[in-house]
Amino acid sequence: MPIVTSYMRAFNHKRLDPYPMEILKRVDRPTTLVREEDIQRVDERESGFNRALRGDFGPRLAKERHRFVAKHPLSHALVNMQFTLSTIVDGIAAENKAPIPDDPVAMARHIKETAYFLRADQVGICELPPYAVYSHSMETGEPVELSHKYAIAVIVDQDWKTARATVGNDWISNSMSFLSYSTSGFIACILADYIRLLGYPARAHHARNYQVVVPPILLKAGLGEMCRIGDIVLNPFIGPRFKASVVTTDLPLAVDKPIDFGLQDFCDKCGKCARYCPSGAISFGDKIIYNGYEKWPNDVEKCTKQRVGNKTGSGCGVCVVVCPWNKPYTPFHRFVQWSMRNVPFARRFAVWADDLMGYGRPHPEDKWWLDLEDVDGILQVPARAGERGNNRPNDGKRNAES
Ligand code: SF4
Ligand code: SF4
Repeated sequence: MPIVTSYMRAFNHKRLDPYPMEILKRVDRPTTLVREEDIQRVDERESGFNRALRGDFGPRLAKERHRFVAKHPLSHALVNMQFTLSTIVDGIAAENKAPIPDDPVAMARHIKETAYFLRADQVGICELPPYAVYSHSMETGEPVELSHKYAIAVIVDQDWKTARATVGNDWISNSMSFLSYSTSGFIACILADYIRLLGYPARAHHARNYQVVVPPILLKAGLGEMCRIGDIVLNPFIGPRFKASVVTTDLPLAVDKPIDFGLQDFCDKCGKCARYCPSGAISFGDKIIYNGYEKWPNDVEKCTKQRVGNKTGSGCGVCVVVCPWNKPYTPFHRFVQWSMRNVPFARRFAVWADDLMGYGRPHPEDKWWLDLEDVDGILQVPARAGERGNNRPNDGKRNAES
């Protein structure tokens, strides 16, 4: 597509989606290698948070794992909602199919419109890759059986205004994550129930009750590319500032294709997340192949120790808030993001300018939340709030909590 046409379309799209998904370059395969034949299904019990819970990272982390979200009253309230949603992910489809269009394109559009009505920020659809289904359930330890044909991925923004104000690992950090986990879970539960009422099987998957691994679904559904932060998919309009839920179903739907917005080249040239990660969990080096996926390596143990064991806040999202793609969707940033997507030689300049203009620095004047910590059932005002790393390439070894 000629570059001027591409630029004009970025500013003149007809809105189905809140963001102009139609201007993105679609490709047949994700921009990072996915060797489907080499991928072993993942056991959810082996996630960093579950390993912390069973004591793999020491007794302090095992204890903190029980309170690391609930220690701030807002993230505590948000996770309470998730527990409520965890019981309503599935059900029996209506016996009679509703008189709906027998057209996967029309139904994909309708399902997306419905998700946007429910306040999703972006939606993508793909065929459910069998390797994205967990091998075993975290709750029961039983093997997971899930044969739905399609996956609908829903992403919800963690809030730009808060991301601008926060250090990234202070007392609002977990609330930002759990706002998006809870809201995307709410949307997925309603969407799945709606599809079942139309007469088709459907199951919601959200942070309190997943049967699927989310990143490969986001890649296939065209909602982002793998980024340097590790097992994280980055979106071209809101960066890494989101959480996702999924609905799996047999309702016939037209699928989306993966996207290419130059992120592999951008992350090669950037590394800002690795510089500021307080635990040194993010690599400054090259990508590797792990379990059939090409990705930047990340140290799950260091990251989990920082998020669960953080002594000066609740959780961590420093990498999210410092990333140059974490921006508001204003005309100025739309132009900058268009350049970052389409003009390779502008990327190094964009990284340099992002630092120069102070993006990613916290703005305490915009802070709206209360710093509070639950200690033995009593809310107290904590002494400190958040602390970023300041790593240089290849010395990322600081501040990991144990
Ligand atoms: S420790 Fe914090 S900044 Fe580092 S990868 Fe984990 S969440 Fe991101
Ligand atoms: S901070 Fe830079 S290197 Fe890290 S994910 Fe964002 S663009 Fe990629």
